[in-house]
Amino acid sequence: MTIAGKSLEQWKGEHPLLDDILQLKEVYWRNPQKGKTTPTTDLSMADILDAEARMKRFAPYFHKVFPETNGIIESPISEISNMKAKLEEEEQIKIQGDLLLKRDDILPIAGSIKARGGIYEVIKHAEKLALGHAILTKDDDYSILADKKFTEFFSAFSISVGSTGNLGLSIGIMSAKLGFNVTVHMSSDAKQWKKDLLRKKGVQVVEHQADYGAAVEEGRKQCEKKLTCYFIDDENSKDLFLGYAVAALRLKKQFEERGIKVNAENPLHVYLPCGVGGGPGGIAFGLHQVFGEHVHCYFAEPTHSPSMLLGLMTGLHDQVSVQDFGIDNKTAADGLAVGRPSGFVGHVMQPMLEGVYTVTDERMKAMLKWIYETEAIKLEPSALAGMSGPQAVEGKSSRGTHLVWATGGSLVPDEVWGEE
Ligand SMILES: *Cc1c(COP(=O)(O)O)cnc(C)c1O
Repeated sequence: MTIAGKSLEQWKGEHPLLDDILQLKEVYWRNPQKGKTTPTTDLSMADILDAEARMKRFAPYFHKVFPETNGIIESPISEISNMKAKLEEEEQIKIQGDLLLKRDDILPIAGSIKARGGIYEVIKHAEKLALGHAILTKDDDYSILADKKFTEFFSAFSISVGSTGNLGLSIGIMSAKLGFNVTVHMSSDAKQWKKDLLRKKGVQVVEHQADYGAAVEEGRKQCEKKLTCYFIDDENSKDLFLGYAVAALRLKKQFEERGIKVNAENPLHVYLPCGVGGGPGGIAFGLHQVFGEHVHCYFAEPTHSPSMLLGLMTGLHDQVSVQDFGIDNKTAADGLAVGRPSGFVGHVMQPMLEGVYTVTDERMKAMLKWIYETEAIKLEPSALAGMSGPQAVEGKSSRGTHLVWATGGSLVPDEVWGEE
């Protein structure tokens, strides 16, 4: 067996950490490229500001069709001192500094981090179509987009996406609301409640027997046949990425309101659950634009799906999958069950990411229970990957603020929550 022309033994010789990774042990990998290579992207702060401005134009529309948003799709920050005490007791660690939780689990509309990127890409596409057909100008009050004239207009167009679940929820719900014909391609092992909810919202769900990657490819092929179909590409989309990045501008404001400083004495450590990479990558990119060298971002992956870790460590990015290394990609953290990372995101992250750590399903499930017991917060397993961050990197990062990004949970039906 060779992987990209090298034997497994060669790979292990170059990267001794592979031994533990292949045995599905929890690891911490420090990114040796941090600060050494130059950024490989032409994206900049101007692009993030452009995305934020677009979201502002849509505020009256969000306010109208999703009144619970008040026009802005944003989540609060919670202090979780009870959970901090529980972690310190259970894991025999001492967490220096404050432990905060970013509550993307209660983001409106889609109940997960995907409400950021997914909804942004859909509204961007809708705006482009409406402006292009001269039925909208940028100075209009966008609440008119809820009118029949517009939903009928959008119904002539299709949007298609492949998803392990949450991206489909976000894109499906938003697209259907605007009036688009929307199809979500899922692997057949995707969570049943997510498929049911989408169908209830008028979304066409296509189930594929093969795995997620194959579902995406099939969806892309079907969409490419139609001129009026727009395919949202989870792996390469700059729009998704920028939609996520806007979170950084909002976080800066939230920190200012709370009097939290980010500087050399008080660095910010952010722990982000990672699947294909777009969500955590976009947010980390935005945070680096906003806080510069004083922010340290870590990605968290399941021990069974360490795709971004393998991509970054080997430098192979999207040219390698966890399956190539004999890892099964089976995890209860369905939002993170991605075997092949985004090459686009990997390249952008290479010079800025602090490191990647992995976490077992058992630990995520234990933490799911603890945070419910101590804080009455219901999360989905993926959302707990960030929670072992302060412990995984203990000693490497200490002072300052620790921000765990809780990425999903509020849409999980009560009868399904905590089942696994
Ligand atoms: C999708 C998802 C992530 C990770 O986002 P990627 O863009 O796939 O890296 C993390 N948590 C949850 C709950 C998700 O749905």
